[in-house]
Amino acid sequence: MSLSGKIALVTGGSRGIGRAICQRISSMGGHVYINYVANPAAAEETRKIIQDAGGRADIICFDVADGEQAQSAIKQIIAEAGSLDVLVNNAGITRDGLMARMKESDWDLVINTNLKGAFLCAKAASKAMVKNRWGRIVNITSVIGFAGNAGQVNYAAAKAGLVGLTKSMAREFASRNITVNGVAPGYIVTDMTSSLSEEIQDKIKAEIPLAALGTPEDVAGAVAYLLGDDGRYVTGQVLHVNGGMYM
Ligand code: NDP
Repeated sequence: MSLSGKIALVTGGSRGIGRAICQRISSMGGHVYINYVANPAAAEETRKIIQDAGGRADIICFDVADGEQAQSAIKQIIAEAGSLDVLVNNAGITRDGLMARMKESDWDLVINTNLKGAFLCAKAASKAMVKNRWGRIVNITSVIGFAGNAGQVNYAAAKAGLVGLTKSMAREFASRNITVNGVAPGYIVTDMTSSLSEEIQDKIKAEIPLAALGTPEDVAGAVAYLLGDDGRYVTGQVLHVNGGMYM
Protein backbone atom coordinates (compact mmCIF):
# COMPACT_ATOMS: atom_id res chain seq x y z
CA MET A 1 0.00 0.00 0.00
CA SER A 2 2.69 2.48 -1.03
CA LEU A 3 0.19 5.30 -1.66
CA SER A 4 -1.48 4.97 1.70
CA GLY A 5 -2.57 8.41 2.93
CA LYS A 6 -1.73 10.05 -0.41
CA ILE A 7 -4.18 12.20 -2.39
CA ALA A 8 -4.26 11.67 -6.16
CA LEU A 9 -5.90 13.45 -9.08
CA VAL A 10 -6.37 11.58 -12.36
CA THR A 11 -7.52 13.84 -15.18
CA GLY A 12 -9.92 12.06 -17.51
CA GLY A 13 -10.17 9.41 -14.80
CA SER A 14 -13.77 8.53 -15.54
CA ARG A 15 -13.33 6.14 -18.47
CA GLY A 16 -10.84 3.96 -20.33
CA ILE A 17 -7.19 4.17 -19.28
CA GLY A 18 -7.95 6.83 -16.65
CA ARG A 19 -10.46 4.56 -14.91
CA ALA A 20 -7.93 1.72 -14.70
CA ILE A 21 -5.36 4.16 -13.27
CA CYS A 22 -7.87 5.36 -10.64
CA GLN A 23 -8.59 1.76 -9.63
CA ARG A 24 -4.90 0.96 -9.42
CA ILE A 25 -4.10 4.03 -7.29
CA SER A 26 -6.95 3.09 -4.98
CA SER A 27 -5.63 -0.49 -4.66
CA MET A 28 -2.28 1.07 -3.62
CA GLY A 29 -4.09 2.89 -0.79
CA GLY A 30 -4.48 6.33 -2.40
CA HIS A 31 -7.56 8.57 -2.15
CA VAL A 32 -8.49 9.33 -5.76
CA TYR A 33 -10.10 12.39 -7.31
CA ILE A 34 -11.70 11.33 -10.60
CA ASN A 35 -11.82 14.18 -13.13
CA TYR A 36 -14.08 14.31 -16.17
CA VAL A 37 -15.52 17.08 -18.35
CA ALA A 38 -18.73 15.94 -20.07
CA ASN A 39 -19.96 12.51 -18.97
CA PRO A 40 -20.92 12.38 -15.25
CA ALA A 41 -22.36 8.84 -15.48
CA ALA A 42 -18.97 7.32 -16.34
CA ALA A 43 -17.32 9.19 -13.45
CA GLU A 44 -20.05 7.98 -11.08
CA GLU A 45 -19.51 4.40 -12.27
CA THR A 46 -15.76 4.67 -11.62
CA ARG A 47 -16.38 6.04 -8.15
CA LYS A 48 -18.78 3.17 -7.42
CA ILE A 49 -16.27 0.54 -8.60
CA ILE A 50 -13.64 2.02 -6.26
CA GLN A 51 -15.98 2.44 -3.30
CA ASP A 52 -17.38 -1.10 -3.73
CA ALA A 53 -13.79 -2.37 -3.53
CA GLY A 54 -13.35 -0.46 -0.23
CA GLY A 55 -11.43 2.53 -1.63
CA ARG A 56 -11.89 6.31 -1.28
CA ALA A 57 -12.85 8.29 -4.37
CA ASP A 58 -14.36 11.68 -5.18
CA ILE A 59 -15.42 13.22 -8.46
CA ILE A 60 -14.27 16.61 -9.71
CA CYS A 61 -15.59 18.04 -12.97
CA PHE A 62 -13.45 20.56 -14.85
CA ASP A 63 -12.01 21.24 -18.28
CA VAL A 64 -8.24 20.71 -18.09
CA ALA A 65 -7.76 23.19 -20.94
CA ASP A 66 -9.30 26.03 -18.93
CA GLY A 67 -6.70 27.63 -16.65
CA GLU A 68 -9.19 29.11 -14.19
CA GLN A 69 -11.19 25.89 -13.88
CA ALA A 70 -8.07 23.75 -13.45
CA GLN A 71 -6.59 26.05 -10.83
CA SER A 72 -9.74 26.40 -8.78
CA ALA A 73 -10.47 22.65 -8.92
CA ILE A 74 -6.99 21.81 -7.67
CA LYS A 75 -7.28 24.45 -4.93
CA GLN A 76 -10.58 22.83 -3.93
CA ILE A 77 -8.96 19.37 -3.69
CA ILE A 78 -6.13 20.72 -1.54
CA ALA A 79 -8.61 22.56 0.72
CA GLU A 80 -10.84 19.48 1.10
CA ALA A 81 -8.25 16.71 1.32
CA GLY A 82 -5.36 18.63 2.87
CA SER A 83 -2.86 18.07 0.06
CA LEU A 84 -2.30 16.78 -3.45
CA ASP A 85 0.51 14.26 -3.77
CA VAL A 86 -0.05 12.50 -7.08
CA LEU A 87 -1.15 13.89 -10.45
CA VAL A 88 -1.76 11.76 -13.52
CA ASN A 89 -2.29 13.91 -16.61
CA ASN A 90 -4.36 11.44 -18.60
CA ALA A 91 -7.18 13.52 -20.16
CA GLY A 92 -6.83 13.48 -23.92
CA ILE A 93 -8.81 13.79 -27.10
CA THR A 94 -8.31 13.30 -30.83
CA ARG A 95 -9.56 15.42 -33.76
CA ASP A 96 -7.98 13.59 -36.69
CA GLY A 97 -7.64 14.72 -40.28
CA LEU A 98 -4.98 15.14 -42.90
CA MET A 99 -2.99 18.33 -42.35
CA ALA A 100 -4.10 19.97 -45.59
CA ARG A 101 -7.71 19.83 -44.40
CA MET A 102 -7.18 20.22 -40.65
CA LYS A 103 -9.04 23.16 -39.17
CA GLU A 104 -7.10 25.55 -36.97
CA SER A 105 -9.76 25.00 -34.30
CA ASP A 106 -9.00 21.24 -34.27
CA TRP A 107 -5.29 21.98 -33.88
CA ASP A 108 -6.02 24.35 -30.98
CA LEU A 109 -8.47 22.04 -29.23
CA VAL A 110 -6.10 19.06 -29.23
CA ILE A 111 -3.04 21.10 -28.18
CA ASN A 112 -5.01 22.91 -25.49
CA THR A 113 -6.50 19.75 -24.02
CA ASN A 114 -3.63 17.27 -24.35
CA LEU A 115 -0.62 19.55 -23.80
CA LYS A 116 -1.66 22.84 -22.21
CA GLY A 117 -4.04 20.95 -19.91
CA ALA A 118 -1.12 18.94 -18.51
CA PHE A 119 0.92 22.13 -17.98
CA LEU A 120 -1.96 23.89 -16.19
CA CYS A 121 -2.72 20.96 -13.87
CA ALA A 122 0.95 20.26 -13.13
CA LYS A 123 1.62 23.93 -12.40
CA ALA A 124 -1.24 24.12 -9.89
CA ALA A 125 -0.56 20.70 -8.31
CA SER A 126 3.19 21.17 -7.98
CA LYS A 127 2.70 23.99 -5.46
CA ALA A 128 1.31 21.55 -2.89
CA MET A 129 3.96 18.95 -3.77
CA VAL A 130 6.80 21.47 -3.32
CA LYS A 131 5.38 22.38 0.08
CA ASN A 132 5.27 18.69 1.11
CA ARG A 133 8.69 17.92 -0.41
CA TRP A 134 7.10 14.88 -2.09
CA GLY A 135 5.20 14.39 -5.31
CA ARG A 136 4.60 12.10 -8.26
CA ILE A 137 3.49 13.32 -11.68
CA VAL A 138 2.85 11.00 -14.62
CA ASN A 139 1.95 12.35 -18.06
CA ILE A 140 0.18 9.98 -20.45
CA THR A 141 1.73 10.57 -23.85
CA SER A 142 1.45 8.17 -26.82
CA VAL A 143 3.40 6.06 -29.29
CA ILE A 144 2.14 8.59 -31.85
CA GLY A 145 4.25 11.31 -30.20
CA PHE A 146 7.35 9.21 -31.03
CA ALA A 147 6.48 7.55 -34.33
CA GLY A 148 4.15 10.19 -35.84
CA ASN A 149 0.98 9.28 -37.74
CA ALA A 150 -0.57 10.59 -40.93
CA GLY A 151 -3.85 12.29 -40.00
CA GLN A 152 -2.75 13.16 -36.46
CA VAL A 153 -0.35 16.13 -36.68
CA ASN A 154 -2.18 17.88 -33.84
CA TYR A 155 -2.24 14.81 -31.58
CA ALA A 156 1.37 13.81 -32.37
CA ALA A 157 2.61 17.35 -31.69
CA ALA A 158 0.76 17.50 -28.37
CA LYS A 159 2.00 14.08 -27.27
CA ALA A 160 5.61 14.83 -28.32
CA GLY A 161 5.30 18.14 -26.46
CA LEU A 162 4.37 16.24 -23.31
CA VAL A 163 7.75 14.49 -23.46
CA GLY A 164 9.60 17.84 -23.36
CA LEU A 165 7.31 19.05 -20.58
CA THR A 166 8.02 15.84 -18.61
CA LYS A 167 11.80 16.07 -18.90
CA SER A 168 11.99 19.79 -18.12
CA MET A 169 9.65 19.47 -15.13
CA ALA A 170 11.65 16.48 -13.89
CA ARG A 171 14.78 18.65 -13.84
CA GLU A 172 13.02 21.62 -12.18
CA PHE A 173 11.38 19.61 -9.41
CA ALA A 174 13.86 16.81 -8.62
CA SER A 175 15.41 18.72 -5.73
CA ARG A 176 11.98 18.78 -4.06
CA ASN A 177 11.63 14.99 -4.23
CA ILE A 178 9.03 15.25 -6.99
CA THR A 179 9.40 12.79 -9.86
CA VAL A 180 7.90 13.51 -13.27
CA ASN A 181 7.62 10.73 -15.84
CA GLY A 182 5.65 9.76 -18.89
CA VAL A 183 3.90 6.60 -20.02
CA ALA A 184 3.46 6.14 -23.77
CA PRO A 185 0.75 3.62 -24.61
CA GLY A 186 0.45 1.99 -28.00
CA TYR A 187 -3.01 0.90 -29.17
CA ILE A 188 -5.21 0.26 -26.15
CA VAL A 189 -8.82 -0.95 -26.19
CA THR A 190 -10.91 2.06 -25.02
CA ASP A 191 -13.66 4.33 -26.39
CA MET A 192 -10.88 6.25 -28.20
CA THR A 193 -9.95 3.23 -30.34
CA SER A 194 -13.33 1.43 -30.48
CA SER A 195 -14.39 3.53 -33.48
CA LEU A 196 -11.61 1.98 -35.59
CA SER A 197 -12.99 -0.57 -38.06
CA GLU A 198 -12.15 -4.26 -37.64
CA GLU A 199 -10.07 -4.02 -40.80
CA ILE A 200 -7.96 -1.17 -39.37
CA GLN A 201 -7.64 -3.00 -36.03
CA ASP A 202 -6.34 -6.10 -37.88
CA LYS A 203 -3.83 -3.93 -39.75
CA ILE A 204 -2.65 -2.41 -36.46
CA LYS A 205 -2.32 -5.86 -34.86
CA ALA A 206 -0.16 -7.00 -37.78
CA GLU A 207 2.34 -4.26 -36.85
CA ILE A 208 2.48 -5.21 -33.17
CA PRO A 209 5.08 -7.87 -32.31
CA LEU A 210 2.92 -9.12 -29.41
CA ALA A 211 0.02 -9.31 -31.95
CA ALA A 212 -2.70 -7.81 -29.76
CA LEU A 213 -4.06 -4.45 -28.64
CA GLY A 214 -3.29 -3.54 -25.03
CA THR A 215 -5.70 -3.09 -22.14
CA PRO A 216 -6.15 -0.07 -19.83
CA GLU A 217 -4.76 -2.27 -17.03
CA ASP A 218 -1.50 -2.72 -18.99
CA VAL A 219 -1.04 1.06 -18.90
CA ALA A 220 -2.18 1.37 -15.27
CA GLY A 221 0.51 -1.15 -14.25
CA ALA A 222 3.24 1.06 -15.72
CA VAL A 223 1.80 4.12 -13.97
CA ALA A 224 1.67 2.19 -10.69
CA TYR A 225 5.37 1.34 -11.00
CA LEU A 226 6.27 5.03 -11.43
CA LEU A 227 4.03 6.10 -8.54
CA GLY A 228 5.05 3.36 -6.12
CA ASP A 229 8.15 2.71 -4.03
CA ASP A 230 9.82 0.68 -6.81
CA GLY A 231 9.86 3.75 -9.08
CA ARG A 232 11.20 6.24 -6.55
CA TYR A 233 14.59 6.66 -8.32
CA VAL A 234 13.08 7.09 -11.80
CA THR A 235 12.47 10.59 -13.16
CA GLY A 236 12.33 12.28 -16.56
CA GLN A 237 11.66 8.96 -18.30
CA VAL A 238 8.98 7.69 -20.63
CA LEU A 239 7.88 4.08 -20.23
CA HIS A 240 6.54 2.57 -23.47
CA VAL A 241 3.61 0.14 -23.20
CA ASN A 242 2.93 -0.86 -26.78
CA GLY A 243 3.44 -4.57 -27.39
CA GLY A 244 6.69 -3.76 -29.17
CA MET A 245 5.16 -1.72 -32.01
CA TYR A 246 7.72 1.06 -31.45
CA MET A 247 11.18 0.31 -30.05
P1 NDP B 1 -11.11 7.97 -23.55
O1 NDP B 1 -11.60 8.70 -24.74
O2 NDP B 1 -11.61 6.59 -23.26
O3 NDP B 1 -11.34 8.88 -22.23
C1 NDP B 1 -10.93 10.20 -22.23
C2 NDP B 1 -11.07 10.78 -20.84
O4 NDP B 1 -10.60 12.14 -20.86
C3 NDP B 1 -12.52 10.83 -20.35
O5 NDP B 1 -12.53 10.64 -18.96
C4 NDP B 1 -12.92 12.27 -20.69
O6 NDP B 1 -13.98 12.77 -19.90
C5 NDP B 1 -11.63 12.99 -20.37
N1 NDP B 1 -11.50 14.32 -21.01
C6 NDP B 1 -11.53 14.62 -22.32
N2 NDP B 1 -11.38 15.95 -22.51
C7 NDP B 1 -11.24 16.50 -21.26
C8 NDP B 1 -11.07 17.83 -20.78
N3 NDP B 1 -10.98 18.87 -21.61
N4 NDP B 1 -11.00 18.02 -19.44
C9 NDP B 1 -11.08 16.97 -18.58
N5 NDP B 1 -11.26 15.69 -18.98
C10 NDP B 1 -11.34 15.46 -20.31
O7 NDP B 1 -9.51 7.98 -23.67
P2 NDP B 1 -8.45 6.82 -23.40
O8 NDP B 1 -8.70 6.19 -22.10
O9 NDP B 1 -8.33 5.98 -24.62
O10 NDP B 1 -7.10 7.69 -23.36
C11 NDP B 1 -6.58 8.23 -22.15
C12 NDP B 1 -5.25 8.88 -22.46
O11 NDP B 1 -4.37 7.92 -23.05
C13 NDP B 1 -5.34 10.03 -23.46
O12 NDP B 1 -4.44 11.04 -23.11
C14 NDP B 1 -4.93 9.38 -24.76
O13 NDP B 1 -4.41 10.33 -25.67
C15 NDP B 1 -3.88 8.42 -24.28
N6 NDP B 1 -3.63 7.31 -25.18
C16 NDP B 1 -4.62 6.44 -25.52
C17 NDP B 1 -4.37 5.39 -26.38
C18 NDP B 1 -5.41 4.41 -26.78
O14 NDP B 1 -5.10 3.56 -27.64
N7 NDP B 1 -6.59 4.43 -26.24
C19 NDP B 1 -3.03 5.22 -26.95
C20 NDP B 1 -2.06 6.19 -26.53
C21 NDP B 1 -2.36 7.19 -25.68
P3 NDP B 1 -15.53 12.78 -20.45
O15 NDP B 1 -15.98 11.35 -20.45
O16 NDP B 1 -16.25 13.63 -19.48
O17 NDP B 1 -15.45 13.35 -21.83
